[in-house]
Amino acid sequence: MQGWLPVDENTARAGGPEAPFQQAESPLVDALGRVHNSLRISVTDRCNIRCFYCMPNENVRFKPRHEILSFEEIERFVRVVARMGVSKLRLTGGEPLVRANLPELVRRLSAVGGIQDLALTTNGILLAEQAGELQRAGLRRLNISLDGLREETFRRIARRDGLERVLQGIFAAQRAGFEKIRLNAVAIRGITEDEVVPLGEFARRQGLELRFIEFMPLDAEGNWQQEQVLTGEEIRARLEDAFGPLVAIERPDPSQPAVDYQFADGMGRIGFINPVSQPFCGDCNRLRLTAEGQVRNCLFSTVEWDARAVLRGDGTDQQLADLVRQCVAAKKPGHGIDSPVFVKPQRAMYQIGG
Ligand code: SAM
Ligand code: SF4
Repeated sequence: MQGWLPVDENTARAGGPEAPFQQAESPLVDALGRVHNSLRISVTDRCNIRCFYCMPNENVRFKPRHEILSFEEIERFVRVVARMGVSKLRLTGGEPLVRANLPELVRRLSAVGGIQDLALTTNGILLAEQAGELQRAGLRRLNISLDGLREETFRRIARRDGLERVLQGIFAAQRAGFEKIRLNAVAIRGITEDEVVPLGEFARRQGLELRFIEFMPLDAEGNWQQEQVLTGEEIRARLEDAFGPLVAIERPDPSQPAVDYQFADGMGRIGFINPVSQPFCGDCNRLRLTAEGQVRNCLFSTVEWDARAVLRGDGTDQQLADLVRQCVAAKKPGHGIDSPVFVKPQRAMYQIGG
């Protein structure tokens, strides 16, 4: 066994009764030298709203409960990849807060040796009820999706009501004392242009970071059009018209997908995730585990590696580790959205985990 990290960096941040953590395996490096230390875990494909850029409006066929990984299975997977250097986790979905007893999973994962960062992405609808318990369970960072501040925009995108509940969820999360709360806004031409400046004002007033995300071709109904992509650059221009020049902030972590800026008056940060207009695949460090246990090396991957079969078929940890290595080794250089031969994955966003 070889320890890959200097000993003083090996102590598990989340603590717990275990011995100091030792990264026992070599890191997950792909053919282009990209080191994979970040895992997005989808805990469910279910959701309480129906955003048009993600889910079908009606008659959604969710996975039956027995196909979805149990907390024990997710924890085992995480223990295996943590030994290969995965230190950052994000829980997502579907809507993660519709999964029963989610704080229990947070407790388990935050106690896994080597996990230094545990975050969650939510639509915020159920957050007012759950924020306190999630924080106490060990969740430190939250991304809350908020594409606009008008009820009409919310209904047009989510095809359900709920803006007021999301706002109450944001305020409850702020009271619960998370280390960091960020707002995520998907930008769609023809729908959210007039939300950009009010969202900027809201984020500044609330002391929250805001990130705009370009609309990607992962909608279940297959209606994505390049023309609907409201680019990060266009949004930045709108914000600069309203607030003055934005000042670029140096990236502390080159694998972070966002380009961040500060408002000129120093009050607030704003980021842009521009996967369509400015792909950042060259620095990607992310792996994904779907709710039913398929490992993916890209949002746009058309191939998956079946971890559930290993988990449920008496497979060893070594077999699980080998499967993850195969998945990483097969990662393509980029998503290729711009390529004439781009093939949209069969799965939509809610079935992958954004
Ligand atoms: N339900 C949670 C939520 O909405 O925050 C978590 C899952 S959702 C799939 C994760 C993130 O992906 C959200 O911020 C959502 O807005 C974003 N998203 C979903 N579909 C997208 C698409 N087609 N393009 C860009 N972002 C998308
Ligand atoms: Fe649900 Fe999130 Fe998809 Fe919207 S983006 S439908 S909230 S999973």
